[in-house]
Amino acid sequence: MNSASYPLTGGCTCRNVRFEMLTVPLYVHCCHCKWCQRESGAAFALNAMIESDRVRLLEGEVEVVDTPSNSGRGQKIARCPRCHVALWSNYAGAGEAVRFVRVGTLDSPDALPPDIHIFTASKQRWVSLPADANVVSEYYKASEHWPAESLARRRALQK
Ligand SMILES: [Zn+2]
Ligand SMILES: [Zn+2]
Repeated sequence: MNSASYPLTGGCTCRNVRFEMLTVPLYVHCCHCKWCQRESGAAFALNAMIESDRVRLLEGEVEVVDTPSNSGRGQKIARCPRCHVALWSNYAGAGEAVRFVRVGTLDSPDALPPDIHIFTASKQRWVSLPADANVVSEYYKASEHWPAESLARRRALQK
């Protein structure tokens, strides 16, 4: 997937919260849905999905804010209690076991380019994707896109 060296460190803007991602994520989403556009204030969100126990707090604590989500089932966004920058989310679908780490909060965000672009039906028109990008107009089935190793990790979570 990539050659970054782990753990990857990251944190909020005021540096109250510092965390590390212990291993390569399961999969990285670039989401172009309108919800992600609103929540980021930008054109898309970049989320690295990883088992919650592979994200370790190094300094500070997070404040978890219940937030509506596209699915209607809500998400829990972990934010720095001081500067309120969002660090990761847990969605109802994947539950507490998987965190969606906001790639831009990593010290080296270039380490995790997207594996897939989702909800490109609502992509802002000026955003052009590389010709070889993995693109779906809405959502997708993990079994059709994820590498075997990530699928095995996901199966281990469901036990
Ligand atoms: Zn902060
Ligand atoms: Zn989205």
